Amino acid sequence: MENYFAHVVIIGGGASGLVCGIACAGKDSKRKIMILEKEQRVGKKLLATGNGRCNLTNLNASLTNYHGSFKKGVEYLIGEIPPKDVLDFFEKIGLAWKEDEEGRVYPYSNQASSVLDVLRLALDRLGVEEKCGCAVKSVRKNGKYFNVECDGFTVKAENVVVCTGGKASQKLGSDGSGLKFLKELGHTVMPLYPSLVPVSVKNPYMKSLKGIRCFGRVTLSDERGQKLREETGEIQFSEKALSGICVFNLSSMASKTKNPRIYLNLFPEWDFTSLVDMLFQRKKIFADNNLEEFFTGLINKRIGFVILKDVLGKNLSQKIKELSKDDIKRIANILIKWEFVCVPNMDFSSAQVTKGGIKGDEIDPFTMESKKVKGLYICGEAVDVDGDCGGYNLQFAFSSGILAGRTV
Ligand SMILES: Cc1cc2nc3c(=O)[nH]c(=O)nc-3n(C[C@H](O)[C@H](O)[C@H](O)COP(=O)(O)OP(=O)(O)OC[C@H]3O[C@@H](n4cnc5c(N)ncnc54)[C@H](O)[C@@H]3O)c2cc1C
Repeated sequence: MENYFAHVVIIGGGASGLVCGIACAGKDSKRKIMILEKEQRVGKKLLATGNGRCNLTNLNASLTNYHGSFKKGVEYLIGEIPPKDVLDFFEKIGLAWKEDEEGRVYPYSNQASSVLDVLRLALDRLGVEEKCGCAVKSVRKNGKYFNVECDGFTVKAENVVVCTGGKASQKLGSDGSGLKFLKELGHTVMPLYPSLVPVSVKNPYMKSLKGIRCFGRVTLSDERGQKLREETGEIQFSEKALSGICVFNLSSMASKTKNPRIYLNLFPEWDFTSLVDMLFQRKKIFADNNLEEFFTGLINKRIGFVILKDVLGKNLSQKIKELSKDDIKRIANILIKWEFVCVPNMDFSSAQVTKGGIKGDEIDPFTMESKKVKGLYICGEAVDVDGDCGGYNLQFAFSSGILAGRTV
């Protein structure tokens, strides 16, 4: 068995680990810093972010965009290393960027590979050693030093930074193994749930809605009808699930909730009475047409067919003038509160993020050092923090990695 020594070992060459290596080497170039990555190359997940464009941060990031037990740490990081500072960090290593109208930031090239390339070049310039194909099996503290064990070799280290991510999208590297050895070191792992993932629903007519995208408000409620969270935006229908950013943002809460429901409001700007009035107007305009024309010019026709035929059981060849007052009210009710029954989803493979991870109280919010094991730091998605969709998760990964790198 070979043995190595490093002043700092960073476990995981993802978003937080790579910036941590740069921040750490920038502080003291004489120390030996080693990144151990289980995949054959670092930054595999980074390349897949933002549909290959990498939404690297969000200039509007605030505490409300984050969930989990590390509130104090998130608050400190937003003040100490806000998105602007993360962008300064990237500018200094050569990345040009641009912002969209919602504060989301992308590399100017629109290529996630630009982000990874500048990180790798900076690490190389600073002499940080990358060792790929090395899955860390265990971390033990032996007196002042850590023993970090991989297949075939051990690294003795003064400090260890765990940047192994959560369990989401295992094919891109993070498989929860980091959380396992953090647990063995005495940490508490808060329950894990997939987040930013499509929400599976079991309504029988999903097949007919497949492929439709529409605008609306989505409300997540529990089995007693208690509203848990509401979001507005583009909703996408697939054969078995609802998705789109607004649905993603409800997904971890849906996984955690018993018998959740999602309600769609396809007319969030309208109240019930004005919607009913508008539908009566349509009844007049299209009086002699068949029911299949009732939604023409208003919403996606396929959605209209499903509401009339599958939800209300109407015959589409019926004349629109035959619609009763009660029918119009029922249609309005569905348009503003269409119920979808969610199916529990614990599938991490299609999730972008993991909800849960190392309990926030066990990490020093000003340094990212573990309160349980001196000299051990924990960053990024391994911590019990999950952000909304829109650059917030990388912002947390980068800012926590930079903070740990500056401190260690
Ligand atoms: C498809 C997809 C798109 C996304 N798009 C965005 C986006 O546009 N904007 C945004 O903000 N967020 C996005 N995210 C979320 C974001 O990528 C993550 O939150 C972020 O990468 C977490 O950083 P991390 O450093 O904690 O973990 P990761 O980036 O997951 O890195 C962890 C690294 O540790 C390695 N590792 C794990 N276990 C071990 C071990 N035992 N030994 C050695 N190495 C190990 C892994 O191989 C991996 O390289 C996306 C996620 C996915 C899956």
